[in-house]
Amino acid sequence: MSYSFDNYSKEELHEECGVFGIVSDGSMDPAYACYNGLLALQHRGQESCGIAVSDEGVIDYHKNMGLVSEVFNNEILDSLTGQMGISHVRYSTAGGSVLENAQPLVMRYVKGTIAVAHNGNLTNAVEIRRELEQRGAIFQTTIDSEVICYLIARARLKCHSVEEAVVETMRKIKGAYSLLVMSPRKIIAARDPHGFKPLCIGKYNNTIVFASESSALDACGAEFIRDVEPGEIIIANVDGYHSIKPDFGEKERSICIFEYIYFARSDSFIDGVSVYEARKQAGRILAREFPVDADMVVGVPESGIDAAIGYAEESGIPYEKAIVKNGYIGRTFIQPTQKERMKNVRIKLNPIADKIKGKRVVIIDDSIVRGTTVDRIVTMLREAGAKEVHMRISSPPFLWPCYYGTDIPSRGELIACNHSIEEIRQLSGADSLGYLPVGSLHEMIGYAPVGFCHGCFTGKYPASITNITLEGKERGGMDFVKKC
Ligand code: AMP
Repeated sequence: MSYSFDNYSKEELHEECGVFGIVSDGSMDPAYACYNGLLALQHRGQESCGIAVSDEGVIDYHKNMGLVSEVFNNEILDSLTGQMGISHVRYSTAGGSVLENAQPLVMRYVKGTIAVAHNGNLTNAVEIRRELEQRGAIFQTTIDSEVICYLIARARLKCHSVEEAVVETMRKIKGAYSLLVMSPRKIIAARDPHGFKPLCIGKYNNTIVFASESSALDACGAEFIRDVEPGEIIIANVDGYHSIKPDFGEKERSICIFEYIYFARSDSFIDGVSVYEARKQAGRILAREFPVDADMVVGVPESGIDAAIGYAEESGIPYEKAIVKNGYIGRTFIQPTQKERMKNVRIKLNPIADKIKGKRVVIIDDSIVRGTTVDRIVTMLREAGAKEVHMRISSPPFLWPCYYGTDIPSRGELIACNHSIEEIRQLSGADSLGYLPVGSLHEMIGYAPVGFCHGCFTGKYPASITNITLEGKERGGMDFVKKC
């Protein structure tokens, strides 16, 4: 979920989220499995989290603001008994950061209760919501996921099953969604027909597990079965699972390339591609494209490290862990104001000064968004006595907004929109700066036969939102979203 219907301030950021679900054969406790799964997905969202379980058809849930370890304790987990459960972590935003927007959303309607956990951003949620409101619908949250919940509940009144209602809903909604829908006796997992957001399925004995990333399956001891296919719907209950693939028309496969660059954990595999290998490969490409004489290669923890290892391997320059990260601070990017972001970069990262003093350093980060981090890193290395600082970025310049749920601010705030690469280098104080070429993205994922969305780098979005993006581009990205 990432769309908020109020508080469209310039500072508002979109969200990344993580989902985890389980139908247990009795060998795993659903609430505890969800808890472990959410811990493994915590990097995808640190604002709020929740678990909903179904016990013999009765759905109960607990959700709150905060980290998974803060929101849940043994007492709460013990009270969430049942045979199945779905759960969610939500990424922080400046607006809409309230408990009512936490997930899973649990809705009671005439056919019973459903719970929904959603990762992604719908591109036509406002349209649908307005239409529904004009016909008397009342919404309790400001998020697009409630639109999904409402459409499923409404479709269910006419359909024979929840899965049919999910299919009906998928015919109406557009954009990015990896969904877990729990009705009292089954869990339905669905991935949008483009496959923007990851979703996979695993098992442990006859227990079925769904997760945004394969590392969350590992965390609860489940074995990876496969990725849920774009446009696929998997229905799981205590007797097993089956899959349906309704015809949604020809759709370009479009996994978000930024999952490999930044979002996902290095130990995850997404659509058959190792996130770690993709990041290392980006580093190798950077070493070939932007070689330099240097004494050491350093990665900005955490997401720059794998690329730094790749750069070191390819260039023969030794890798050095010369920056230490305080692991107890959330991702800097999610801090709501520029001032807080500046402050937190300092608290979060600290160089090992005697390693750096007098050295020529190649430093690698995964991306430059507003330019805050690159500026701080270069200053930090200079203050630690680095003789030369060569910045390498394992993604192309961010130039366009994302309509599918990636947290990218308005174009005005994207430093690469208003500055040339040379200007960014000068502003950051680096001796040289090199970005991963857009044309290398396919090589980064090992030429895997998966289509990916690179709209944030190229402005070219999958066909289905052409009319929206054209307008959005002219208006400067997020303005489009506000207009909706
Ligand atoms: P900035 O400091 O604004 O240039 O942002 C760049 C830093 O934010 C990099 O170090 C990234 O690791 C991190 N980052 C990039 N994109 C995102 C995102 N969508 N959400 C959270 N953090 C991000």
